[in-house]
Amino acid sequence: MAIETRRRTVTVQGVEVPKLGYGTWLLQGEAAYEGVLDALALGYRHIDTARTYGNERDIGRALADTDVPREEIWLTTKVWREDAASEDLRRVFAQQLRDLRVDYVDLLLLHWPAEAPLAETLGTMNDLHEQGLAQRIGVSNFPSSLLLQALELAPIFANQIEFHPYLPQGPVMHVCLEHDLLLDAYSPLAHGLVHTDPVLTTIGVRHGASSAQVGLRWLLDQPHVAALPKASTHEHRIENLDVFDLELTDEERGQIASLSYIGRRTADPPWAPVWD
Ligand code: NAP
Repeated sequence: MAIETRRRTVTVQGVEVPKLGYGTWLLQGEAAYEGVLDALALGYRHIDTARTYGNERDIGRALADTDVPREEIWLTTKVWREDAASEDLRRVFAQQLRDLRVDYVDLLLLHWPAEAPLAETLGTMNDLHEQGLAQRIGVSNFPSSLLLQALELAPIFANQIEFHPYLPQGPVMHVCLEHDLLLDAYSPLAHGLVHTDPVLTTIGVRHGASSAQVGLRWLLDQPHVAALPKASTHEHRIENLDVFDLELTDEERGQIASLSYIGRRTADPPWAPVWD
């Protein structure tokens, strides 16, 4: 079963980005290879990886073996915070391209705020952008104040942040709307927690949908948002892609937004910035 997703895009800075991506954190080896091959065959056209996921070689194999042409795939990868100084960044990114077996990535993100000066990192990323090796550049895990600083330094396209019904992202959303940026929602299923949520489950029963589908639909209904659910099983990959016919009512959207009082953040490592 292939689900038509090509037209399911969000337009940012005049560029169409497939709204539903396939997240690959914690998938390695054959699981990453098979997962990406299967996702592409199902209709996903947006793949999210990072140097630290340790799967760029596996994804590179899948990109080489799929029938889907490279130009139809939106490929995002990330620079690790410890590789953010200029020379390291250039060297590691060159290896990332080799591992992914591509000539360019669609989006290159700084994974987390780093110790290297932001101007240096973004300046180098912008060089890679100007060379056509990174079609667009952006940041990840940047709260609104840091995002505004980044915007002063380079042509930022996206901020990838944790976003799901338990974690409101009002200030970052505000900056994204104001500056025409992609809000790339990671852990959109709250790392699996939404699966058993009673409010999402009740809404889902009404529509013949799962709680995960309801949570994803709620995210994708918001402007400038793409979502990146990770799934290691074929069934979950199908389920997560099959959300475009689901229509939530305003009342249901309001009920889901009210879950944000839970304030649950799943990624908060010691190097995290001060959040909004
Ligand atoms: P997630 O997508 O929110 O949740 C993944 C979990 O949900 C897995 O346990 C998965 O199980 C389960 N799941 C998936 N589909 C389901 C369904 N339909 N029903 C029930 N359970 C389902 O979590 P995530 O991996 O943390 O985030 C997604 C992606 O965001 C990552 O893979 C990565 O690409 C990106 N990310 C980026 C950052 C960053 O710092 N920029 C941080 C975290 C994540 P199975 O695996 O068993 O299918």
